[in-house]
Amino acid sequence: MRVLVRLVFPLLVVTGAQAAVPPEFTACLRELRTEALAQGIGHRTFNRAFKGVEPDPSVLDAMQAQPEFETPVWEYLGRLVDDKRVADGQARLEQWAPVLDRIEREYGVDRYTIVAVWGVESDYGRIMGKRPLVRSLATASCYGERQRFFRGELLATLQIIQDGDMKPEALRGSWAGAFGQTQFMPTTFQRMAVDFDGDGRRDLVESVPDALASVANFLRLAKWKPGEGWGYEVRLPDRYEGPSGRRDREPLEAWRIRGVTRADGSPLQIDGEAALLLPTGARGPAFMVFPNFNAILAYNRSEAYALAIAHLSDRLRGLGAIRAAWPIDDPVLSRAERLELQQRLIARGLLEGDADGIVGSRTTAAVKAFQASTGLPPDGYASARVLKALREADEAASPRAAR
Ligand code: CA
Repeated sequence: MRVLVRLVFPLLVVTGAQAAVPPEFTACLRELRTEALAQGIGHRTFNRAFKGVEPDPSVLDAMQAQPEFETPVWEYLGRLVDDKRVADGQARLEQWAPVLDRIEREYGVDRYTIVAVWGVESDYGRIMGKRPLVRSLATASCYGERQRFFRGELLATLQIIQDGDMKPEALRGSWAGAFGQTQFMPTTFQRMAVDFDGDGRRDLVESVPDALASVANFLRLAKWKPGEGWGYEVRLPDRYEGPSGRRDREPLEAWRIRGVTRADGSPLQIDGEAALLLPTGARGPAFMVFPNFNAILAYNRSEAYALAIAHLSDRLRGLGAIRAAWPIDDPVLSRAERLELQQRLIARGLLEGDADGIVGSRTTAAVKAFQASTGLPPDGYASARVLKALREADEAASPRAAR
């Protein structure tokens, strides 16, 4: 992957910071200017935004990075929801109480969820990313595989500058373009950001009221149901073999009949529909999740992420830690192991297509089918245990083992 970056940035690598802007980048900027003008961006805005902008090779490095190991969900949660973040969040709840009162009334989203998003996204405005947005997005718009996508984000950035919402110098963020206290992408900013402090500008870097109200507006537009929670921890009966996964929504009565209870053993309240989330399979913590959990997921399509927001919001409300233990004795798979798992599932006819090392809903369904076929609880959790079971089953079925 690094070789590719060197190929596309020959001048930068050879002569370092003194290098002239590579000719293909200059050509690309000409194209971008034409696109921007066609969308109503003025020359002045464009020139101001692109003053001295050179491509940033580290953006391509970041884009192409494929981590060998995914972070286990318990480590991810432990990092994002620790006592310090809870205490800081409670201080922010007090500090911004009058603003949060108004936001709750206007948007129907509770203050704990809003502050939890703020805490997870930027540690309450402490960590917003340092990369100049125009430089990162221009690089990703001119190199790499997702140029179309990033051009849309770049044009939205130019529009934000032209509208006077934010200054180019203030627009700093992640390599991919998420910025400010809420870490919105520029197109998300365009659709969701609001001016709540009444100065006529939507400023998600400097203005906490604008940032908090923008989070609330995002969740409202993602169909947040006022007065309802995201869900809660539950306990499964021994040897649970029923359905799981956030797409399997059923009336709470159905879950009660299967023997699911609240984490403290009390019965489920019987109203509404919910799904059973098992982030680490039937051996780990279990959660009933309601439609508001999906609203959080709209912010970032990762269950671990949504769970971090949900759990932090509970801790901010004064609720306790997750009760059940995580199965830390059952390691997460490396990329090579995930590929092996998929290849074995494909060989068994349980999974179609090619192995790509990404465990999505189809791989989870295939793992469930394998587990069901061998009498294991079908929870779909693709961990070391299930790979071991697959290896053993394949070994037992091979002609050599039969001798
Ligand atoms: Ca404002």
